Amino acid sequence: MPRHGKNTLLLLVACLSLTLAASGASLRATRSSQLVQNQRADGDRLSRMEDDSMTERFVRLKLLEPVPSKTSAYYLHAVRQDNRYLRPWTKLFLSRLSSQFRARFGRPLRVTSLLRTAEYQRSLQRRNGNAAADDGPKRSAHLTGASLDISKKGMTGAQRQWLRNVLSSLHNGGQIYAIEEFRQPVFHILVHRQYENYVDRKSSSSDATGPKSVGKD
Ligand SMILES: [Zn+2]
Repeated sequence: MPRHGKNTLLLLVACLSLTLAASGASLRATRSSQLVQNQRADGDRLSRMEDDSMTERFVRLKLLEPVPSKTSAYYLHAVRQDNRYLRPWTKLFLSRLSSQFRARFGRPLRVTSLLRTAEYQRSLQRRNGNAAADDGPKRSAHLTGASLDISKKGMTGAQRQWLRNVLSSLHNGGQIYAIEEFRQPVFHILVHRQYENYVDRKSSSSDATGPKSVGKD
């Protein structure tokens, strides 16, 4: 290979690694991640579920929607029956993301957490000292029903990177708040209410103005 060709190649590789590092970096948890998520949830005026009877009330009011344990694009793993609910826009997000993932890689996403009640969060704390609080400014975003966890277990490097890119793009666009966790191998995502408008805008305009790497939809 001619010398300048080799240099160009090296430069390309360096740029690519920098781009990948930058897109992954924005998903790292920071000291304020929990506070920010609670501020966003307050901004979306989201109640936190105290117990199963409160969940049932919200389901009757259609403020929470039931999530099937298995579709062709995702399946729930170890999610208790009474926690199989999400806010409508978070369910929409899961359905779109998983369809795109499945279209691209031919396999479903594994979802390990949806809604959690404060009562359930307390039982998690008793079993696991690292579980988030059930109350206060650092309480878990799962109490709102607007959050979900997607497992990285069994994914190839390319599949993880695809998810990182898509989630970073939506995170930077302000539609979601996403964290890549390492202690537990999951992507934790809080979906904002405005995600619904973002999808409406995207589907009503033929020339998509949304973040570039969201996928072919
Ligand atoms: Zn989570």
